[in-house]
Order: sequence, then C-alpha cells, then structure tokens
Amino acid sequence: MSSRVKPTAIGIDLGTTFSCVAAWFDKHNRVETIPNEQGYNITPSCVATNETELLVGDSAKNQMIRNPTNTVFDAKRLIGNRFNDSRVQEDIQSWPFRVVEGSPDKPMIVLEHKGIKKQFSAEEISSMILKHLKAAAEAYLGTTVTDAVITVPAYFSDKQRQATKDAGTLAGLNVLRLINEPTAAAIAYGLDKSADRNLPNEKTVLIFDLGGGTFDVSLLTITKDGTISVKAVGGDTRLGGEDFDKSMVKHCVQEFKRTQKKDISTNEKAMGKLKIACEKAKRDLSSTTQTSIEIDALYKGIDFSTKFTRAKFEELNAGFFNTCIKQVEKCLTDGNVQKNDVDDIVLVGGSTRIPKVQHMLRELFDWKQLCKSINADEAVAYGAAVLAANLTDNGNKTVKDIILLDVTPLSLGVGVCESHMSVVIPRNTPIPSMKEKIIYTRFDNQTSISFPVYQGECSNIKDNILLDKFILYGLPPAPAGQEKANVRFNMDANGILNVTAESQSNGNKEGIIIAGSGNVSNDDIEKMLKKIAL
Ligand code: AMP
Repeated sequence: MSSRVKPTAIGIDLGTTFSCVAAWFDKHNRVETIPNEQGYNITPSCVATNETELLVGDSAKNQMIRNPTNTVFDAKRLIGNRFNDSRVQEDIQSWPFRVVEGSPDKPMIVLEHKGIKKQFSAEEISSMILKHLKAAAEAYLGTTVTDAVITVPAYFSDKQRQATKDAGTLAGLNVLRLINEPTAAAIAYGLDKSADRNLPNEKTVLIFDLGGGTFDVSLLTITKDGTISVKAVGGDTRLGGEDFDKSMVKHCVQEFKRTQKKDISTNEKAMGKLKIACEKAKRDLSSTTQTSIEIDALYKGIDFSTKFTRAKFEELNAGFFNTCIKQVEKCLTDGNVQKNDVDDIVLVGGSTRIPKVQHMLRELFDWKQLCKSINADEAVAYGAAVLAANLTDNGNKTVKDIILLDVTPLSLGVGVCESHMSVVIPRNTPIPSMKEKIIYTRFDNQTSISFPVYQGECSNIKDNILLDKFILYGLPPAPAGQEKANVRFNMDANGILNVTAESQSNGNKEGIIIAGSGNVSNDDIEKMLKKIAL
C-alpha cells in the first residue's frame, strides 16, 4: 500500500461476464484499475455456493465445471426483467443453474448453500459481485469505500437501472450515479485525447461497445473544453459474446449427436465443459483462421474433438453481427449524423476483437480506421472512476471540467384510451429532463384518471414495458373532456423517473417515483441483507 491520496469514490463496470473497478488518483493525475485479490484487473461476474462457502469472481468461475447447478453467471441478463419475458425464458433454458418464478413475475435463482436451497434475485447476485469489488478496492486503497458510480448499458430500461441501483445499495454502496457504458468509455476516450494539441474544437465520436452480454452504440460529440454530449444511443441489452459462445456450443452438440448418436444437451457437466472450450476457441479465432476443440471424456467417457474455422464461426453468428451493424445505422439516423461526419469510431468491450465485427464496421464507414487506443476491457470502469471523482470533487482540473450530457435511451409515456401510448419524453432526449402533457377525461362525470407509465417505442402499449401505474382521484364531476390533468415526467441524471399528475381544476395531485420490479423498499433491503450474509 502506498501513500497515495485516498480517493473517496470508485467507478464500477458491472459487466455480464466480467466486472472491473477503478479509481482516480490525484497524485498520479490518472485513473488506476484496481486488481482483485488474485491480481487480475477484471473479475468474472460469477457467484457460486457450496457445502461450506459463498464464492465470488475467479474462485466461483474456476469451480464451475464441478458445481454447475450452483454457479451463477449472466445475472445481468435477468436484472430488472420479467420471468415470463420470452428472451429470459430462452436464456433460462441454456443455463445450468435453476431460475424459478418469484412473485410477481420476478426471476429468482435457486442455489443450494450448506445443504439448504435458497432463492436469490438478480439484484442480490449482482450485489455480491459489487461487494466483492468494493472489498478489493478497500484492500488496495487501505480505506473504506462507500461512494460509487456504476455503469449500465445505454439501452437499459428504467426497471433495469433501478434494479442495478438496488444492487449497489445492497452491497453497502452509495450509488452516486448510474452512467451509460458507452458514455463512460467516451469519457475515457475524451480524456485520452485531451492531451492532443491538434484536437479540433468538436469531434463526433461513435462508441461501439460489444461485451459479453450486451451491445451498446452511442453517438456523441466531445469538445476540447470537456463537454460530452450524447446525440443518440442504440443497441441490444441481450446481445454479446455469450450469444456467440452459445451458437458454437449448439453446433458442437449437433456434431456430437451426428458422430456419436448421443444427445448431451441436458447434461449440465458436459454443457459446462463445452461452454468453456467454445469461449476459448472463439478467442483463438480472433487471431487465427482455424482452431480445434478437444475435450477428454466429454460425455460417458467419450472424448470430443472437432475443428472450428473462423468462416464457420462467422456463418453461425452472421445474424448477430448484422444486428449490430443495423443498430449503428439506426443510431446515425436518430442522431441525424452522416457516416462521413463521424470523426472516430471507438471500439470497447471484449467482443470487438472479433475480426468480422471490425471488418463490417470498417465496411460501413468506407474503410475508415477504427480506434483501438483505449483498453477495451477497462475503459468503461475508467470513465466511471473519472465521473466518481468529478461528483465527489476529488479530482483535479481535468476531472472537474467534464460536463456530461446524456440522453434517454427509450421513449417514456402514459397509456391512454386503453391501448395507446402517449409519449411524454421521446427517446434520445437529453437528461435530466422535465416534460409535461395534458390528459383529458374520456367519460362524463369521470372523477379519476389512471396513469399507467410505459417505456418503449411502440404505439400499442402491449408491446412496451409497463413501469408502474397510479390513479389521480378527486376530479370534480363534469362532461367528458372538460376535466384535465397535467402529467409531468421528471427524469434525473441517473435516468430514474418521477411522474406526477395534477388536476387543473382543484390542484389534487398524485405521483410516483417509478418503482419497477427491481425497486425494493427499505424493509426488503433489510431482509435481503440478512439473506445474503451467507
Ligand atoms: P466484456 O464484457 O467487455 O468484458 O467482454 C467479454 C466478452 O468478450 C466475452 O464474451 C469474451 O469471450 C469476449 N472476448 C474477449 N476477448 C476476445 C477475443 N479475443 N475474441 C473474441 N471475443 C473475445
């Protein structure tokens, strides 16, 4: 431990497959990534239980093959999501650990610990990872850490954000701010470039962030004086390296069936071994055009060996790669930016090392060079650490000068006429943001109005996410359309929403701070804290 100036706040990249923690050091005038207890800068987002202990990070991942049903990964794909969501169901089918339906419609992970089966929400699992990173930071810094900035995919819904914030609270962290992952990467990139004297006054930058479980694209402008304005965001919160691994695993299962006439898809141990081997082969294929997968005694003593070419890998994942490019095009359209006007295309996230992804991006941008200067694995935590220093006034001038102007990733509005969503805050609106709309009564003598709050891009509410609802009572009886309420949406810098409705005739007021499925009360937090103190 050195005599460095103690930072008071940390930045955490809570990733689907790996997480990373960093802090700003005034003395060195830079961010340092904090290594975990094993000395690694990135920690697997993995939690496991066994007869005697709870394992987090590398120790959990390392015993995955021996203990597949009690080793949880990918919790980020569940956080703030509904159990009955079709994509959640698809994921559940592919995981060796059990996920059951909690109430209401909440996915709960079943783990056996010290011989007892317990259910955990994705927030609880994530909080264990955050707690682990907090402990690593405290050990490295030699001080207690409570304040943190945590990153989330730009395309995370309000529920997913709230649930991530809850995970932070459960881990004993005061979450100063949630920041979008590509925006955090842009801070890292902007700071990196600020030393460049030839920098134009304003640069348009596209951040392409393809990680283990999520894909984010952001279009921003970075000015010389440190203002970062997000123009548009896009992506898919369920697309990443894990999906590429899955398609390779599926291919190997078919190969085994073809050659050995045996179906291994329901054997958790065999599937666990295949998953690890395929992920490694995928990485190999980023630097070589052919590799092999060899597993001794994969199933009932039968060895498995197969060749895997880069061309086959690309063919299996072509659909995913096309989706990424389509999202980039959509983001350019949304941001009203021509592709020739993009100055830099910055790669972030482990999966951007895939040659085909780089090739398709270069092709889209007429073979422009891609920026690989920032560390793909650590840039997001780096940017979060800079913002943490900025928010706690701990940083020097470079840090203080940063001004962040982010946007709403999805439209927000109220359900009207039973099926239609009336948008109040359109997507890609700069936040914090406050917008209002007038809603009229639809029937004679109607004395209350219901306000279901939705998030999404479809005009029909059934295709959007219902965040919460409330009712404004006490309107004076009057003919239809005469009484009206002013509905106000106030989104804070974390992207968390406060909705109120006020009668224009008598001032009656009702409102909610959006309490998604992920939002927990203080009582719930107490209960969860007791449970996760395993
Ligand atoms: P991240 O969430 O940014 O940590 O990215 C993790 C994902 O990147 C995992 O799915 C990894 O398998 C993937 N990844 C890391 N290195 C490579 C590589 N060289 N080639 C392909 N994928 C990689």
